[in-house]
Amino acid sequence: MTAHPPNTATAVFFAPARINLIGEHIDYTQGRVLPASLTLGTRVTMRPRADRQLSLHSVNLDESLQVSLPLGAQTRRGHWSDYVCGVAWALEELGISLAGAQLEIESDVPLGAGLASSAALEVATALALLERAGRRLPARELALACLRAESDWVGTRCGPMDQLIALYGRCGQALLLDCATLESRVIDVPADGAWILADTRVHHAHASGEYNARRSESEQLARAAATGGREMRSLRDFSSGDVAAVGASLSPVLARRLRHIATENRRVLDAVSALQRADLPALGALLSASHKSLRDDYEVSCPELDAMVELACVLPGVFGARMHGGGFGGCALILAAADRAAQIAETLRERYERATGIVPWIHLCRIGDAARRLR
Ligand code: ADP
Ligand code: MG
Repeated sequence: MTAHPPNTATAVFFAPARINLIGEHIDYTQGRVLPASLTLGTRVTMRPRADRQLSLHSVNLDESLQVSLPLGAQTRRGHWSDYVCGVAWALEELGISLAGAQLEIESDVPLGAGLASSAALEVATALALLERAGRRLPARELALACLRAESDWVGTRCGPMDQLIALYGRCGQALLLDCATLESRVIDVPADGAWILADTRVHHAHASGEYNARRSESEQLARAAATGGREMRSLRDFSSGDVAAVGASLSPVLARRLRHIATENRRVLDAVSALQRADLPALGALLSASHKSLRDDYEVSCPELDAMVELACVLPGVFGARMHGGGFGGCALILAAADRAAQIAETLRERYERATGIVPWIHLCRIGDAARRLR
């Protein structure tokens, strides 16, 4: 940890949202994932205050709130401010004495759509609070403090992907992140491929219950993998032979869940090879295979996501598509030829609206840099 003079002037910080190219629902089983940071993100404008108050304003939600430092005795409120207070708490837990500030928060990320607006808010807040306090943290420690804010203060069971990519992302590159060791490697993303996000604009209410059910199932699977005379190994290393052998002793549902975990891990590594060869058709086929696996084996898709993926995949110039994020609504991620992306987005918008009666949010992603001070 390093120290520099406390900031007494206004400063603006940015942290990016992210897509995950492939590797869905395997972050919590110590799998490998392939996120990329976006140019979309959250800005926090920090204006110092002379007292030890944090006054917060979210432009997106048009809501303000004031809290006193230190936060130790306070608890979460079940409110968006928990993400900010959680970060302040996690930094204080590291022995950092924070100073008062006014934080104005503004994001161009759809909130709660699986693009990690929560991590963008945490990371931009952490940079602002550290600057105000005259302290710096290495990126990994900062990411882990933000993760702690979300898991221990807000109370969301999440993996470390979102916070790490917000701090490690690079323009034009994805990050192959090992969720077991937190080691990572940058992978170039070919510029002739366009990544299109297509938000179905639906959120089915059973999503969080189903998410928790998948986590419990994956814990059962990890226990099953560790027993039965097999050497202790991670689910991510299961070959198709292992899946067949272990699957025979499991219920049909658990056997399908295991098949998704094993095949999705394989697809992440295959996607890295495809990226290195700049083989967009191969990469697109992996995305589409991931969607089928999430739909049929992991059972986390929904009719609107399936419709978006099917409508996208028949369009000329589309290499492949899949549901993105936790599922049961939210976004699909589409890989397309960059020179046809604008037309694809337009056609998809019309066809999805015609099929479902819902106007989708469609966005052509740009892979941008990690969190930073803007001015
Ligand atoms: P995701 O991270 O995929 O967007 P989450 O449910 O993890 O979805 O986080 C979304 C929540 O984060 C929002 O409901 C809100 O509480 C908080 N949040 C994120 N960005 C902002 C913002 N700009 N203003 C206020 N709250 C925000
Ligand atoms: Mg989140």
